[in-house]
Amino acid sequence: MQCDNCKATVPAGEVNDHLGRILCEDCYMDALSPVRTCDPWAVHSAKTFEAGMGGGQAAVTDLQQKILGILKETGGLERHELVLRLGGGFTDADLTREFAPLRHMEKARAEKRGDKVFLRLW
Ligand SMILES: [Zn+2]
Repeated sequence: MQCDNCKATVPAGEVNDHLGRILCEDCYMDALSPVRTCDPWAVHSAKTFEAGMGGGQAAVTDLQQKILGILKETGGLERHELVLRLGGGFTDADLTREFAPLRHMEKARAEKRGDKVFLRLW
């Protein structure tokens, strides 16, 4: 299947249906929150990161480490709750940008629980 928004290939099990559109997890999360879809900067940084990674230990920023710490501590929470916890002027758009590389590194991901989307460790 293909994401209607960013044209990424989406595994059948991870397809999200939003208002009749097929969306990958990133676009689905964005569709549920008022930020722009498929932040090119986030995708770019994740790809750049992967290119330079060479299969070694992933380099996670302090902020991403903090996000992972919160997700570990809570067992997963909704993104607005995570934004609140990060505090200090941290915005939903910042979360989108920080979270995308974590997804690409398979360290954290979004999970639908009922009609809500939770962020959790991979
Ligand atoms: Zn997409």
